[in-house]
Amino acid sequence: MEETKKTYLLTPGPLTVPAEIKAEMLRDHSPNAATHMAMTSAIRAYCLEICNGTDTHACVPIQGSATYGVEAGLHTLVPRETSRILVVENGFYGQRLAEIATGARFSVSVLSLPMLPLPTEADIEAALEADPAITHIMICHAETGTGVLNPVAMVADVARRHGKELMIDAVASFGGFPIDAAALDALAIFISPNKCLESVPGVALVVARRDALEASAGRSPAVVLDLHAQWRFMEEKGAWRWTPPTHVVAALAKGCERHRAEGLEARAARYRANWRRLVDGLRQRGFETLLPDEIAAPIIATFKDPADPAYDFRSFYAAMEKRGFIIFPGRLTAAGTFRIGVMGDLDESDMTLVLAAIDESLAEIGVATEPA
Ligand SMILES: *Cc1c(COP(=O)(O)O)cnc(C)c1O
Repeated sequence: MEETKKTYLLTPGPLTVPAEIKAEMLRDHSPNAATHMAMTSAIRAYCLEICNGTDTHACVPIQGSATYGVEAGLHTLVPRETSRILVVENGFYGQRLAEIATGARFSVSVLSLPMLPLPTEADIEAALEADPAITHIMICHAETGTGVLNPVAMVADVARRHGKELMIDAVASFGGFPIDAAALDALAIFISPNKCLESVPGVALVVARRDALEASAGRSPAVVLDLHAQWRFMEEKGAWRWTPPTHVVAALAKGCERHRAEGLEARAARYRANWRRLVDGLRQRGFETLLPDEIAAPIIATFKDPADPAYDFRSFYAAMEKRGFIIFPGRLTAAGTFRIGVMGDLDESDMTLVLAAIDESLAEIGVATEPA
């Protein structure tokens, strides 16, 4: 196969970025220029708009990957001395939330659940009843470690009934799946620019409830992760506290424009069509998915390794990489699997190329598949 025009990042992010977004990064911007401030403000407003947070929440971007936003949210919004965080985990990224909260010296209780069945009301209630000291609940929306979409509305109901605060890692899902910050009454929603918003990595975005943000002045022990200070500075000066990744901001402003033009539902439908094509195609070739279709978040598909002894992920990966397609290993939480993401600048015609590359790669490493 000829070398493809683009490198396909078929991963949980960063993704194959549209050329129009990359082109935005060719221009330099001063962080204090009105144009840069306008881009920052448009991004912040748009992120609130798509999660119905305009009246209740604020969107605060900070420099770094999405995880920086999670830690900043914890330091700023959670009173360390009086709080205990219940992390509901059913996969790798849930485990990472627990790791971040523990590493940042919070008191943490982990509710470890299997990948399936999905967490139930009874699971969460039991954990809260067993440990009345819990004040906050943290959970992933799309758990990209397995591909499960967690029932955040149910968790929000339980949290509200028990008077607990809720923080959601919507890093993988934001922009591809509806989430309602006001209806969930979420303390914080953590967002990435480089998943369903299809832009480049380099900033984290936190949608935080405004009353909680207002009450958080001076709380963060980390200066650079102080969301309140970043928020106040942005509100007052329109700029970032320290050097922002200016090209990344420009790219994300374009990413938001493109997201608005396509619409969340159309974007979700495009991903679903990609995912359907990929899953059907690989099933025809004898592969099995880790999850039943009804539960899978159609942004990434997790497949069980083929039983053929010639199969080995590293050789498969290398054969795909040579053809311009980057795939992803399974996580330890889902051993014996590999993952293929369908987010980013991809449509069904790209999925045809992906399937062709898979056929060639498996043939190259000597893995027999059922003829498609
Ligand atoms: C990709 C992803 C993250 C990644 O965070 P980074 O700090 O940007 O690497 C976190 N949570 C979930 C669910 C993800 O899919």
